[in-house]
Amino acid sequence: MKTALITGLTGMDGANLAKLLLDKGYKVVGMERRISTPNHWRLDELEISDHVNLVIESGDLTDQGSLDRIVAAHQPDEVYNLAAQSFVGASWDQPIMTSDITGLGVTRLLEAVRNFCPGARFYQAGSSEMLGGAKRTEQMNEDSGFQPRSPYGCAKVYGFNIAVNYRESYDMFVSNGILFNHEGELRGIEFVTRKVTDAVARIKLGLQDKLELLNLDSARDWGDSRDFVRGMWLMLQQDEPGDYVLATGVVHTLSDLCEKAFAVVGITNWLDYVTLSGNDRPADVKYLWGDASKAERELGWKPETDFDTMVEEMVRADLQRVEVERKGIQSNG
Ligand code: NAP
Repeated sequence: MKTALITGLTGMDGANLAKLLLDKGYKVVGMERRISTPNHWRLDELEISDHVNLVIESGDLTDQGSLDRIVAAHQPDEVYNLAAQSFVGASWDQPIMTSDITGLGVTRLLEAVRNFCPGARFYQAGSSEMLGGAKRTEQMNEDSGFQPRSPYGCAKVYGFNIAVNYRESYDMFVSNGILFNHEGELRGIEFVTRKVTDAVARIKLGLQDKLELLNLDSARDWGDSRDFVRGMWLMLQQDEPGDYVLATGVVHTLSDLCEKAFAVVGITNWLDYVTLSGNDRPADVKYLWGDASKAERELGWKPETDFDTMVEEMVRADLQRVEVERKGIQSNG
């Protein structure tokens, strides 16, 4: 039985990857950070919280000792570094913390692996926000060059570079993903896709009147998290490590997303429910379009869930959650 260590177990990708690996027969060691209230809702929704092969360890990417202890104790075959301060917007409010976790945290985990389990294969969760660029409209691949536009993007570029450096310096098996946006039912509520699908469910069930957005023209190459975690796993099954873009190759605007999400609940005059307001970010990436042909060629990876299906699943999941919440409110008087 192979052992995989996943940092960021309680996040969207961490939970989906844990499910994938448990289904493949792995022992999964999931790292969660200490917070005052356990954050296992994603593991609960996937029904893996009590899986016999899931071990949950408390650790933090800012705490070297915890990383050393976990890596030394479990001797993982594969390490997936998914933990991060992952929200671009928050990275302007807390740039130092973002750099510490999302950037320096990668070095800490690489050090733990180098010192205590150097044969482990390592996946680093890079982002299309590293490619960024104010006015880029071309399809971007591994050779496009980094132009980060946020503290988050800068921290991820550092993480990418230090991962390449450890691969080259210490002959470690380290692969980077350059992942374009991916979403799904387990997406965090602060991210715009989930903000939309949650609002659509609330508007449909009479708990909310308006959906507030910054703009409607931002465009993203949105894929499904379950496809993307499969790509991460494939990267660590190759003979050689490497760096790979994962993307769908299809771009949609926020307007497309809203139209599709409202259509799921039968609302066609969706613009009547949307208000454009709020502060723009100090800098923004308006357009991200990925070219995953290297991953298709070398990993045999292709996304399986299309945009429409993903949005529909997200809206239906939120309808169920909001319905449960509404019943709770009614029964509490
Ligand atoms: P997510 O849902 O925000 O999950 C992030 C995880 O990191 C959570 O489990 C969080 O724990 C954990 N974490 C945060 N700070 C930590 C710390 N100091 N020590 C240990 N754990 C910490 O993110 P995601 O969407 O699953 O993304 C997974 C990874 O892929 C991230 O690195 C993200 O930046 C990257 N990525 C994501 C996308 C995307 O579109 N989803 C695209 C490209 C790259 P809590 O649950 O306690 O908050």
